[in-house]
Amino acid sequence: MKFDLRCSIQLSRDADDIREEFRKFMGGIKIDAELEWEINGDMLLLHIVSTDRRSHEWALRLYKKLAPFFGKNKIGMRGIHVDRYEVEFELEREAIKPVAIPFATVEIDGKMARILIEDKGEEFIRQNYVDRMVRRIREKVEHQYYEGKKEYWHLIWQSEEKEAKWNKDPSEELQRRGWIKLMGKGRWFYFPPAAAIMRAMERIAIENVVRPLGFKEVIEPMHVTFDTWIKTGHLEGMPGEIYYICEPESREREEWERFVDLLKITRKVDEEELLKHLKPPREGVCYAQCPNIYTALAGKTLAEKNLPLLIFDRSTPSDRYEAGGKHGIERVDEFHRIEIVYIGTEEQLREIREELMERYSHVFNKILDLEWRMARVTPFYLQQAGIDGEEKEEIKGTIDFEAWLPYRGDRSKEWLEIQNVSIVGDKYTKAFNIKGQKSELWSGCSGIGLERWMVAFLAQKGMEPDEWPDGFKKYLPELPEMPEFL
Ligand code: ATP
Ligand code: ZN
Ligand code: MG
Repeated sequence: MKFDLRCSIQLSRDADDIREEFRKFMGGIKIDAELEWEINGDMLLLHIVSTDRRSHEWALRLYKKLAPFFGKNKIGMRGIHVDRYEVEFELEREAIKPVAIPFATVEIDGKMARILIEDKGEEFIRQNYVDRMVRRIREKVEHQYYEGKKEYWHLIWQSEEKEAKWNKDPSEELQRRGWIKLMGKGRWFYFPPAAAIMRAMERIAIENVVRPLGFKEVIEPMHVTFDTWIKTGHLEGMPGEIYYICEPESREREEWERFVDLLKITRKVDEEELLKHLKPPREGVCYAQCPNIYTALAGKTLAEKNLPLLIFDRSTPSDRYEAGGKHGIERVDEFHRIEIVYIGTEEQLREIREELMERYSHVFNKILDLEWRMARVTPFYLQQAGIDGEEKEEIKGTIDFEAWLPYRGDRSKEWLEIQNVSIVGDKYTKAFNIKGQKSELWSGCSGIGLERWMVAFLAQKGMEPDEWPDGFKKYLPELPEMPEFL
């Protein structure tokens, strides 16, 4: 790598008179880079070319060393300005197409990348933006290679074929009966019979998986701060799927007077007026429950006797902007999940994963009687990182549980993910600084999608309670009646 930095330090007065003294002083300073300097009135100009340590680091070190010298001469230093910073580095692979990033122009020639940054303030080098810019360019080039490729999918188990009771879309039938009602984009209201089915799914999960394995319930807020999502990576991973939350500027009635006037007169919300009263969002609606759980544990050291820590949340729904992908109750913008989180040693997580797979299998085979399968999945970018899921011993990664949807047709391809089991290694315990008394901690989570369980079950078993499997009937002996609307 090559770092070629031209920067300037603003001085509090003209320093031409101390040039000779400065030359002597600089003669005694050792840096492992090419250094040129020039005093020009009240400016000290530096040119630092380095191939090892980054030039901006040298600039900051120099700045520190110069302070006493200028102090002695009663000259103040007023910060460093980046005039021109050129960084050259080699890529792993050639870029397929051009790459652009903020704050710099980027040129790529084969495997050589060059970025040019001009006219930036001191925070730019103090906050190490340059390092992250280089990393971002590498990431973007790597991404060009897996763009459009499917995630890795490897079947690990499949149930026998089961006869479907019908081949209709349960969401449509639920709607036809009036048991569910669409309440805006991808959000449903569940009337008593539909709510009872979903709660039965919840009881089945709690009584057969969550409680027997010793998971304890927590209740978390529905808002998630940006800080949390920056740590988990959600904000950079799926900024386009988040529902953002705005606080009002004020809760004083007078502040809202014009908004209310307009509303009362037009019976419509004046969006422009509304936006004037909102702060920019700093948080969003829960996307998955685990990030808030990690934030609650951030900075803590877990007692050895409490490992593995097993907790779950079912208090808050998850919201995701699914845009055009929505369908019925199976792909919605607001859904209900139980999410369990496990934190412990690698060995403990290996055991939990086994037990979870056993318990889930029991539910799908013996209670819901589904045609289902399990597959190891790895997003392509993780395969690059060497987590390819092929190795038997490797427990990092995700197992998806899928069910066949007869109404969609062909059982060779029409399957829906109904839940997953993930182990993320030390990614989150590191990001949130969660430590063990002695042990190194890993973590993982499993999201049980109640709408997905319900859809899979109804799609395979039909809508006639009499025909439902006995295992399920135990959890829902009778459906509450639907109110009659005249
Ligand atoms: P998909 O690939 O179907 O979009 P995902 O990979 O986004 O799923 P995860 O983030 O792994 O899903 O969430 C875990 C579980 O949450 C899923 O297995 C599913 O049960 C549920 N889930 C996710 N998105 C939705 C949705 N839009 N509607 C209903 N349930 C969902
Ligand atoms: Zn999670
Ligand atoms: Mg998704």
